[in-house]
Amino acid sequence: LANMMDVPVTQVIGTCMSIGMMVSINQRLDAETINIVAEEFGFKTEYVSAEVVEAIKADADEDNEDDWVSRPPIVTVMGHVDHGKTSLLDNIRSANVIAGEAGGITQHIGAYNVKLASGRRITFLDTPGHEAFTAMRARGAKVTDIAIIIVAADDNVMPQTIEAINHASAAGVPIVFAINKIDKPHANPEKIKEELANMNYLVEDWGGKYQSQEISAKKGVGIEELLEKVLLEADLLDLKANPKKRAVGSIIESSLDKGRGYVSTVLVENGTLKMGDIVLAGTHHGRIKAMFNERNQRVEKAGPSEPVMILGLNGAPQAGDTFNVLETEQEAREIATRREQLQRELGIRTQKMLTLDDIGRRIAVGNFQELNVIVKGDVDGSVEALSDSLIRLSTEEIQVNVIHKAVGQISESDVVLAAASNAIIIGFQVRPSVQARRNAEKDGVEIRLYSIIYDAIEEVKSAMEGMLSPEI
Ligand code: GDP
Repeated sequence: LANMMDVPVTQVIGTCMSIGMMVSINQRLDAETINIVAEEFGFKTEYVSAEVVEAIKADADEDNEDDWVSRPPIVTVMGHVDHGKTSLLDNIRSANVIAGEAGGITQHIGAYNVKLASGRRITFLDTPGHEAFTAMRARGAKVTDIAIIIVAADDNVMPQTIEAINHASAAGVPIVFAINKIDKPHANPEKIKEELANMNYLVEDWGGKYQSQEISAKKGVGIEELLEKVLLEADLLDLKANPKKRAVGSIIESSLDKGRGYVSTVLVENGTLKMGDIVLAGTHHGRIKAMFNERNQRVEKAGPSEPVMILGLNGAPQAGDTFNVLETEQEAREIATRREQLQRELGIRTQKMLTLDDIGRRIAVGNFQELNVIVKGDVDGSVEALSDSLIRLSTEEIQVNVIHKAVGQISESDVVLAAASNAIIIGFQVRPSVQARRNAEKDGVEIRLYSIIYDAIEEVKSAMEGMLSPEI
């Protein structure tokens, strides 16, 4: 474990001792301990069998730099309800920008790929919204390169707009703003830009770095320009993949179809997925019996950034699960079975999230540099005051990031963001919703509630100084 993490073995032993495990250098650690220790050093554990490791290594061997080619960006549309996410996706899907491709997009498979007049392609995730985006991220999938944040010009920057911006930012995904509904008589795009500026998101017309485009998703105005801006952003990212490799990617959605059995939409991130490939996803596996694209056409293969619906898995993997292609069905079955066993042994608590009590220990281990927090409060003034004070606690060693702050109850969306970003949630004069509390317990996300701002600041400060007395 020390070798894999590239840290001195004494530090690993020290960490084990700090969690009350007296171990020696040649002792084997159980899975739970490995999870905790790895987490302390900032690593996430994933259990794969030796065969997968070998397969991945073999893959790396055959990787030739000349084979890497640019791939289309994968885009998610996020924003406040009714601001036009679905309309925008429908508009793009339904035609005018698509350069005469055979067959319209006839089915919703969770993602679709369009070719623009310029010949370039973009892949859209068809389940808009930051909740789905972050839920997938919490499962380890990074299936978005660029986020379009849509804001209705006849409305304001709304709480969910801010959430969407913060979810995209927490994932480090670049943002392009689409200011929608400009066909409406009361539309005021400048007001939206001003509101964004007040949040420190300066769009280009205002001298900032964020691209923005005024559109009407309903009338199809400005869509081409918006997509050109998305492509500009993609150029900066220089997205590349190697279509000659075996495919890896993520599950977008799965279901059980009466006639066809388990059906999953997968998005290929790297390599090429082919008919007959043996796919392993989460605890499920199978040989691909048929593949369909979003135009309901049978296809033989899917390359980087291409979504495709596959038939042949023996179950329904979860959205956000990674998939791999293996050599033999037996190999896939063995690994799937082992994963299932591990899951059962470890229970649902497969991952240990950060808690305030952990911080002191992590600092002692010497690799703790960033504390992510989400601040929810009853009124704007206290949310701002608390956030500012927390950020000011940053030292040279530890940066405190407020990745999201808002007025209101602690929601499920806050919990999923915390899980994806390893953040702590701090509530001031507010409580979590029932479902948020349940999810937090399940995912091991820490929620701290305070009724005095000073107490919140003092506790985080003591934790950062490694002096928080353990909760009894
Ligand atoms: P979502 O909740 O973000 O997916 O929003 P929808 O796409 O469902 O849009 C909400 C409502 O706004 C619908 O009634 C749309 O017809 C309307 N809408 C969306 N875009 C536009 C637009 O550009 N102009 C006008 N006038 N209405 C729009």
